[in-house]
Amino acid sequence: MPITLTVPHKLATIRWVLAYGLFAVPLLILCHVLQGWVLAIPADPANGPAVHFLDVGEGSAAWLEDGDGNNILIDTGNPISGNRICRILRHAGVNRIDTLIITHPHPDHMGGIFCMMPRLRTDHLYDNGQPIPGRPDCDLYRWYVQLFRSSEKYRVLQRGSRLEWNGMSIEVLWPIAGNYSRNWNENSLVLRISTRGKYALLMGDATSKVEVRLLEMDPEALKADLLVIGHHGAGDATSLAFLKAVDPKWAIIPVNKDNIRGYPSSKVLKRLRDNGTVVYVLYKQGDCTWDFSDKGPCCVRK
Ligand SMILES: [Zn+2]
Repeated sequence: MPITLTVPHKLATIRWVLAYGLFAVPLLILCHVLQGWVLAIPADPANGPAVHFLDVGEGSAAWLEDGDGNNILIDTGNPISGNRICRILRHAGVNRIDTLIITHPHPDHMGGIFCMMPRLRTDHLYDNGQPIPGRPDCDLYRWYVQLFRSSEKYRVLQRGSRLEWNGMSIEVLWPIAGNYSRNWNENSLVLRISTRGKYALLMGDATSKVEVRLLEMDPEALKADLLVIGHHGAGDATSLAFLKAVDPKWAIIPVNKDNIRGYPSSKVLKRLRDNGTVVYVLYKQGDCTWDFSDKGPCCVRK
């Protein structure tokens, strides 16, 4: 059953307000407040494995359930929206994260750790291991190192790493060990999740430069039923050759409404349309859950 609390957006008409007079204004204020509490995650279908792509506005976050009680989180949204992930997990009765993976340390991917890690037990911490400058103008990154990387639970993932739970695995396709770029997006972890004979490919913020290398190394390893589009749908990712190699039935674009950089790119959207891929843009569709079946993701608006 979906875990859904919804609040009507347009409660008031002039007639309604006139009819209910004094009650209308306090009720509208209450509804406005409640909208911030809305949780709209479709629950795990039949208690099997599932991945929930959370609408965290600017940024990305995916919550993975292996169907055997283990919860894995891949990215945590930004410092503001990370709080929503905490509420969603708590509402679902999750108080322990088995594995927390940060694809790269940009704030729209790691920002949620600052509210999440003090509240939820996390057993294993991973990121891409890229160098982080210790300059005084990079306070957020310094705090990231202090909270996340300084933990004894922290390890680095790189191409060839593999994590496994109860028939579910995450294969790391990128980056290559020690081969880091000055452009942090190009260091982003690229992860392929597989279970039940189905595949989801999560590109993080990897760009077309990374796609070229992945295609050179092993195009067959890119095949996936579902693709989380790289770099929030920006025009510097999701090249035609890459899309053809992955050939996804479904694509998720984690992006916010009125993105200041103009994502997603209309060219990327056209490429996906031309490929026959069904696209889910999270700010439009809301939180989307896929159960690694032949059916596409199921989405619930906030
Ligand atoms: Zn990003």
